[in-house]
Amino acid sequence: MITFTKELWRYYAGISVLTVLASLTTVVVPLLSGWAIEEIRKGAAASIKHVIILALLLFIMDVLGNILNNINGYYGDQLSAKLNKLLAVRYFEHLLDLPQKFFDTELTGKLTNRLNRSVMQISNFVQAMTNNFMQFIFSTIFALVIVAFYSWPVALMLLSLYPLYIWLTIKSSDTWQSYQKDKNEQYDIANGRFTESIAQVKVIKSFIQEKHELGFFTRHTDKAVQINVPQSKYWHKRDVRRRLLLNVIFLAVYSYIFVTAVHGSISPGVAVALILYAQQIRIPIFTISFLVDSTQRAMADSKDYFDIMSIEPEIADHDGSEPIKLAGTEIVFKDVSFGYDDKHMVLNGLDFTVSQGTKVALVGESGEGKTTITNLLMRLYEPQQGTITIGGTDINTVTQKSLRQQIGVVFQDPALFSGTIRENIAYSNQSASEAEVIAAAKAANAHEFISEFEKSYDTQIGERGLKLSGGQKQRIAIARALLKDAPILILDEATSSLDSRSEVMVQEALERLMHGRTTIIIAHRLSTIQSVDQIITISQGRVDEVGSPHELAKTKGIYAQLLSLQNREPTEKTREQLKEFEIAG
Ligand code: ADP
Ligand code: MG
Repeated sequence: MITFTKELWRYYAGISVLTVLASLTTVVVPLLSGWAIEEIRKGAAASIKHVIILALLLFIMDVLGNILNNINGYYGDQLSAKLNKLLAVRYFEHLLDLPQKFFDTELTGKLTNRLNRSVMQISNFVQAMTNNFMQFIFSTIFALVIVAFYSWPVALMLLSLYPLYIWLTIKSSDTWQSYQKDKNEQYDIANGRFTESIAQVKVIKSFIQEKHELGFFTRHTDKAVQINVPQSKYWHKRDVRRRLLLNVIFLAVYSYIFVTAVHGSISPGVAVALILYAQQIRIPIFTISFLVDSTQRAMADSKDYFDIMSIEPEIADHDGSEPIKLAGTEIVFKDVSFGYDDKHMVLNGLDFTVSQGTKVALVGESGEGKTTITNLLMRLYEPQQGTITIGGTDINTVTQKSLRQQIGVVFQDPALFSGTIRENIAYSNQSASEAEVIAAAKAANAHEFISEFEKSYDTQIGERGLKLSGGQKQRIAIARALLKDAPILILDEATSSLDSRSEVMVQEALERLMHGRTTIIIAHRLSTIQSVDQIITISQGRVDEVGSPHELAKTKGIYAQLLSLQNREPTEKTREQLKEFEIAG
């Protein structure tokens, strides 16, 4: 399971000791009561002093118990808060380490929902265990020993309860767990969609699908509620049986105590003490079912959590990986074949070279694998076959972090975080100085519009702040990439979602960004491509043609076709064809 930190163990041990002390205060109560009754029975010969002392002792036990329990509660709260933190931080840390592939198939909402549920149940469980388990063991043993001292048949009867009761509880656990699993599945689906809906609420509104989304959510939560009916019925039916068994055994216990007391084999004081102990033992027995209940709840509800925690990152650093030492930035793909799954290959023996300091455009129809090539270069995925080298070094032999440090990326969707503009620009380099941030913004054509905001670089953007236009966001993303100052640059349709006016500003910024860097451009406009050093056209997962724009314009290849399409009067058809290449007509 989870390995606790030393600090948590200290709390755990402290709580256990305190619980034992606290249960000591309750466990002596029947004994004191029995003595009091013995004294009272002496009638006129009874000592008032004695009974008062016994009353005072009972009082002291109560007060001690009260104080100890509250100190214990305090440590319990601390333990639970620290445990929550530990579980959540470990989960987040682990998630961040998982490969891109994992996130391709998981809904965000599901991931967060699992965390919340698991953390809650695990900490409930630990709290239940710390508060009850030691107390249960201790007070049970203590009570049984005393009972055995006075009457071993009663002790034996009480002892027989435990294995029977535990066995019955555990027997019903499997069925309960399988219900719980089904229930959790429904909750995960519902909450996954919930988070997705909130994130894309604009789409819902524009298609007027509020009802549909609410319906989806209600349907799945309803299913969970429906599963709850047989689950709870099952559990409580079993509980009635379990308790019936307990009731029958207690019938025997009480009868035995009463009859032996009437016979005079035990004194009334002992009889009272035995009855009180028998009753005290009932409580820990119920605790068993509570403990089993919370154990199975924790097991069922944290299963997904531990499933995720046990996923080994597929694309980890290989043994002996070292930080990359750049001998140059020439990028070579050699016989690279790759598919996101083994059935559908996207790239089939791809070969190409991007010389140091040059700009290379990838051209190919939508879905041909241009973005995939950049994913492989960043090692977000690993090719099934072939090698990728940078400056002669195989990227499989270096650490992922050092590799990604060398590559700046501007995506089609700028994806900024909520926070200030400054924080977003400095995202790639958290220790950047004010001057560096401003210089990057200036080079990205962003300084001007940022300065017009009242709070300038401290303006909050994103969820809780100012909304920026697509072009403004993109220029901040470029400033972010500039500040990273990586020798290799990937521009994946960085201008495709922009209107032509902001595109000019962004284009200028991109030119500055590309200066002196080895750049792979996936362009949205032919005009952008015309100024690159080389064009690589991709078709069916292979390189189709390589050459300068000038050279390729003369062949009959993809680029030449695109050029001629663009030079013709734009018609519906030519536009369609250009669109296939994700190029605006
Ligand atoms: P391009 O950028 O050239 O338009 P992509 O590289 O995005 O193309 O996609 C190439 C192919 O890989 C497409 O068929 C696409 O459906 C598939 N693909 C892209 N991303 C994933 C992914 N994360 N998981 C599975 N398949 C993917
Ligand atoms: Mg793409």
